[in-house]
Amino acid sequence: MLHNKRFFNSIYGPVKSWRFGQSLGIDPIGAVSTCSFNCVYCQLGEIECQTTTRQIFISTEQIQQDLQPFAPWDVEIVTVSGSGEPTLAQNLADILTVAKTITAKPVAVLTNGSLLTDPNVRAELTIADRVAVKLDAIAPNSFQRINRPLEDLELGQLWAGLWQFRQHYSGILSIQTMVLSTWSDQQQADYITLMQRLLPDEIQLNTSTRPKPIRHELDARGNHTPGSRPYPIRSLKPVSVEKLQIFRDRIQAAIGIPTRYP
Ligand code: SF4
Repeated sequence: MLHNKRFFNSIYGPVKSWRFGQSLGIDPIGAVSTCSFNCVYCQLGEIECQTTTRQIFISTEQIQQDLQPFAPWDVEIVTVSGSGEPTLAQNLADILTVAKTITAKPVAVLTNGSLLTDPNVRAELTIADRVAVKLDAIAPNSFQRINRPLEDLELGQLWAGLWQFRQHYSGILSIQTMVLSTWSDQQQADYITLMQRLLPDEIQLNTSTRPKPIRHELDARGNHTPGSRPYPIRSLKPVSVEKLQIFRDRIQAAIGIPTRYP
């Protein structure tokens, strides 16, 4: 496992993302996967360090230095994501400011939303042009089962943080929902009701098209190519495109929020 961690680079890609187009990735977390969740489908494998404590993992200067060789940044967007939950990086605001200034590209953050209860995190995220928040579960039991969060994280609190963020954020807010199995009529209706209250700018339905590595591999940050993984993986059964399409159509017909799937 150590061989690929010695050569950690905080910038990866560019990768073609169905959500954002050609995207350059910034990893503010580092070689050890670190997150407040340990999602059953996580492309990083089993999370190595589960925490809600913010710290500086990679200095802003290091990220600035790592960005330079990628000039002139021929991408549509720069995405802060990588080896875990990016809002755990205490220098998130500096990273976003540096990325926007150096590349002159829109900057997105992919977050699991668990730290949105922290007013500092909410304020820092307003620097981003786009924020995509993970919301895979609408009931506490499925939240526990799918996202496997740290004990002190509760779905209701996450919702409250997300709601507060929505009130003040003027960028593009996406909700990313991983649909691991076919949702019942009632689950779909409850989800639509929540989205109607939150009114995100868009909804991204996803399913488990990317295999889960057995252990953490840095390559998994940006590798979207099936069959190109030289390490042990576990494939997850995706929900069919037809089912995602039916759910998408129902959401759009009910509340008119643009909804996409891969
Ligand atoms: S929130 Fe993201 S990084 Fe964290 S465990 Fe889930 S999928 Fe992995």
